[in-house]
Amino acid sequence: MANPRKINQDDLRNHNLSVTLDTILCAKTPLSRADLAKETGLTKATMSLLVSMLLDFGAIREGDPVAPAAYGRPSTPLRMNGGRIAGIGLQVNTDGYGCLALDVNGDTLGLDWVNDDMTGTDPGDIFAKLDAMAVRLERRLARRGFIVAGTGLALPGIVYGLELLTARNLGWANVDLSRFDVVHRLHAAPGNEAKMAAIAQIPGYATERAGFLNVVDRRDSFIYVSTDIGIGGAVVRDGDVVKGSHGFSGEIGHLSVNIDGPVCGCGRKGCLEMYAGRRALVEAAGLAAGAATTKREFAERLLERWRSGDAAAVRAVDRAVDAMVSAIASAVNVVDVDTVVVGGLWAHFGDDLTAELERRLNAQIVGAPGMGVRVAAAPVAEHPSLYGAAEMGLRRFIEDPLPFITA
Ligand SMILES: [Zn+2]
Repeated sequence: MANPRKINQDDLRNHNLSVTLDTILCAKTPLSRADLAKETGLTKATMSLLVSMLLDFGAIREGDPVAPAAYGRPSTPLRMNGGRIAGIGLQVNTDGYGCLALDVNGDTLGLDWVNDDMTGTDPGDIFAKLDAMAVRLERRLARRGFIVAGTGLALPGIVYGLELLTARNLGWANVDLSRFDVVHRLHAAPGNEAKMAAIAQIPGYATERAGFLNVVDRRDSFIYVSTDIGIGGAVVRDGDVVKGSHGFSGEIGHLSVNIDGPVCGCGRKGCLEMYAGRRALVEAAGLAAGAATTKREFAERLLERWRSGDAAAVRAVDRAVDAMVSAIASAVNVVDVDTVVVGGLWAHFGDDLTAELERRLNAQIVGAPGMGVRVAAAPVAEHPSLYGAAEMGLRRFIEDPLPFITA
């Protein structure tokens, strides 16, 4: 019988490698071996060994030596190294589908996206097309010598395990995702699109921190609001998405802002989505009715008319702002965070509207005036769910690096 008190050396090494990688990703400026030892609490000798393993594998690289401020030897900063490990993101959304590969250094290795109205499509057809697209991407990665660490699959609905329970805006329900080749082959981890879009906003989650202006830091807490035809959301606590008991946490679009309001697809009355979703806005602005409301062109026309001061568009957006403020304030009051990041359609209304949301939100926060809430447009605005899904895939390497290194 194995001695239960004996620490498995591989498990320990795997854990230490993971902590080292995570510390490198978290750092705002590149760290040296000595910095890493200090940050992680590991000895310099252990850190030196771990760094050698990661360097030999090619997951990290040495930057140019930096001269010390006062005295001593120059230190060598360590950076994530591109060209070795990739994550794949797959997405089926209400306005199209596609795939993307991301390098640990943050480079986009390939992005393929098809714009299409997805309402009422057949899941089998769409996943076959997505599979063909992913095969091309995988071949491209293999030719360049990449190892795929993992794959995330972003879907506009409620996902439980490997089943898409419902995606009302696609007209899909009870879809067993495990029957699709692309999910099977890539061991894709499915999840809600808003949660993945939230991950994309977290700097250093699984890729080296990008040069863009981050609105949150690696371990921050915030609410992400994903706005399109549907409205989704995610609560991020200390840098990780709160899943909830079943993975359904963060469905801010179905917070009711009016108990006598119109009946939502979810069966409740007066959900946020019924006022501030793309379909609702297009309809309320008098641009289209029925099935046509989901067409992308109407979203652009809505923004144009709103900017030009068209009375119906302004009225629709004002009412939607009321709904957004009410729902987000309720969510902030429940989970107690001080940052709200808005992505999707609502990020296109501009800084003035973001400032108005923030001002009005602060008047409805129970923690005010002691606590202030900040509202920011999402910095990763183009295909955030695809990027987040790919980061989720890459995170498999960060959390469990040894199997990749010793493979
Ligand atoms: Zn609803």
